[in-house]
Amino acid sequence: MAAIVNVTILGSTGSIGQNTLAVIEKQANYRLYALTAQSNIDLLLQQCCLFSPKYAVVTDPEAEARFSVLLQQSDCDTELLSGAEALAQVASAREVDAVMAAIVGAAGLQPTLAAVKSGKRVLLANKESLVMGGDLFMNAAAESGATILPIDSEHNAIYQCLPAGEIGASSSQNVHVQKIILTASGGPFLNLAVEKFADITPEQACRHPKWSMGRKISVDSATLMNKGLEFIEACYLFALEPSQVEVLIHPQSIVHSMVYYRDGSVLAQMANPDMRIPIAYGLAWPQRIESGARMLDLATEQPLQFQQPDLKKFPCLRLGIEAAQQGGTAPAVLNAANEAAVSAFLGKKIGFLQIPLLIAAVISKIPCEAASSLAIIREIDEHARVVANDLILKKFC
Ligand code: NAD
Ligand code: MG
Repeated sequence: MAAIVNVTILGSTGSIGQNTLAVIEKQANYRLYALTAQSNIDLLLQQCCLFSPKYAVVTDPEAEARFSVLLQQSDCDTELLSGAEALAQVASAREVDAVMAAIVGAAGLQPTLAAVKSGKRVLLANKESLVMGGDLFMNAAAESGATILPIDSEHNAIYQCLPAGEIGASSSQNVHVQKIILTASGGPFLNLAVEKFADITPEQACRHPKWSMGRKISVDSATLMNKGLEFIEACYLFALEPSQVEVLIHPQSIVHSMVYYRDGSVLAQMANPDMRIPIAYGLAWPQRIESGARMLDLATEQPLQFQQPDLKKFPCLRLGIEAAQQGGTAPAVLNAANEAAVSAFLGKKIGFLQIPLLIAAVISKIPCEAASSLAIIREIDEHARVVANDLILKKFC
């Protein structure tokens, strides 16, 4: 009988959160310590009734008040904790073994870092927290002994293709790996003429051909900023130089990423595009458990294709690569500007083509500095949002 694993899911009502519960539901040895949500309290209540976590956290104050009433009326004995500090509390509690970091955006940084600092097994879906925190985040993991298991399918694939001893070894130590290739589906507009980009609506951008995801990451996938953020994420997670990371468009989303070794060997991880697979891997590592995903049948698949990304058509990917090359606070500025741009696009305040223009404008206004403390990163994050929102108000282009 496998040992009992106590899990906190930060962002249990989101796409990754729900998929995590779907995997856990089929296993006997996982217990929920805490579930958290921003405002989707109906779903959170259902989850609490089904999984009986010890704690629930709702961060939106108005939703929290309504949830408190619903919880009292239910026969569920979960206890409600308040506010953003409670997120860090349930991520770092002594009883917790594993934390699924599945909050979207910068809001995930503080609780994810709390889990990292307390030495948990951290299932990292919230790529924005690593993009912002960078070396600070990875150094905190090295100090506390936390195990970071990447849930992003590409990084999960790389993790599976690297020998265990060489994960996180710096490029000077790791002489065997020549480069890694992150694959990208190309998103919904891979084959759309750039002349039509001005008319793209939020609904079209959120309709991803291969993955069903939250709205923010869906827009990021449509602009290819998602791959830009993943490029940065890969450099930090695997201690790689930007020159060792490449991106290839692979519309079938079967090969999730690859590692090139110096002897000419290339290791790839393949699977149907289903986030339950990396989630199950993260939960059970180094064992394997069933994920509920359909097995890959290569004989019936479309031929696998690979092509270079078009950085002119998708400038967000170029901006991401440049931020990785610059280092310091550049990735945090890029991330904050992107969050502001995506939110403005979803709110129909700016068009699709303005997303990269806005991000580039913010980057040009904020000089890059050393990301030497969390306070500096937070400050630069806030500053970049103010600059971005100001530019949006001024109808910058
Ligand atoms: P989502 O929008 O579906 O869910 C986000 C979750 O975070 C929800 O539970 C929401 O309540 C919570 N949340 C949002 N804002 C919050 C705030 N300010 N404070 C506290 N909680 C807040 O997003 P998702 O698609 O599940 O993605 C989650 C993260 O995982 C993102 O960082 C994304 O980049 C990453 N990721 C997602 C996928 C995917 O397939 N969905 C794949 C790879 C990586
Ligand atoms: Mg990904």
